[in-house]
Amino acid sequence: MAATYEDRVVGPATTVLLGADNGKYPDANSLLVQGAERTVLLDAALGVLPRTDRLPEIDAVLLTHAHEDHLPALHRFPHAECWVHEADRFAMSTLDDFIDLFGIAPERRESFGQMVTEKFHFVPRPDSLGFEDGHVWHLGGGVRVEAIHAPGHTAGHCMFKVEPDSVLFLGDVDLSSFGPFYADAFADIDDFARTIERAASIDAKTYVSGHHKGIIESREQYLELIRRYGAVIDRREQRLVDFLSEPRTLEQIAEHRLVYRPQDDGPGIPNVEAVAARRHLARLRRSGRVNVTEDGKYSATEC
Ligand SMILES: [Zn+2]
Repeated sequence: MAATYEDRVVGPATTVLLGADNGKYPDANSLLVQGAERTVLLDAALGVLPRTDRLPEIDAVLLTHAHEDHLPALHRFPHAECWVHEADRFAMSTLDDFIDLFGIAPERRESFGQMVTEKFHFVPRPDSLGFEDGHVWHLGGGVRVEAIHAPGHTAGHCMFKVEPDSVLFLGDVDLSSFGPFYADAFADIDDFARTIERAASIDAKTYVSGHHKGIIESREQYLELIRRYGAVIDRREQRLVDFLSEPRTLEQIAEHRLVYRPQDDGPGIPNVEAVAARRHLARLRRSGRVNVTEDGKYSATEC
């Protein structure tokens, strides 16, 4: 059965272009924001592709971050400006730079490059414009979009607030039960934890996640979802501390898995697990909960 693509108007200026299955990866949710003078897209996911013929003229595409699933329709708007946070901007220059952002294993670079080109239609945009936290795009008639820097998933990951519709677009602070993803080259767990706190402090009428949850219109529900989402970081870390009741090597920890379930399968999983393990271990060593033994193994201090 062909996927259905639902448009949801969430304010006079804002329409959510829901991806297939509420924006489940490889699709994602995108937003169309129309002011009196300018029209922008917030992300240009796979679900935008079947809609391009009926969309109004797009003046600019603002990316939450430079990941493959948030820009597959970007090539359909070659004359629109492309904006991305200054910290992710380098990734839009060439395919090689784009691959660098992910920090994937050298032996997977070629197949990954092929995948993002064929399946996600990645086309470099070396003319991309950079922005910083607090940048505002005025679209006319009082409609504006503000960038809220929300690093952790990537260094340049951002959320966008649309006013006066009071819509917060969360990008990959996606509120999924899977939890925060921080295995890219420039991802950071502490930054992600701060981003989750910042996201929880922002009041909006409507919240839209890049994947999974889609549109949330109750602040109470939003706060509960974001609390559970943030708790995944602590849960992974506690599981790691429990596993380190005996000294273990990094390889054993990565094999034990912190992020994926044992039955999950995929070529990138070993690298994701190794990166996540290293980052959690560094964090636990800073807080004194984990030591390194003389033979280079990791061990919990509280056991
Ligand atoms: Zn992402």
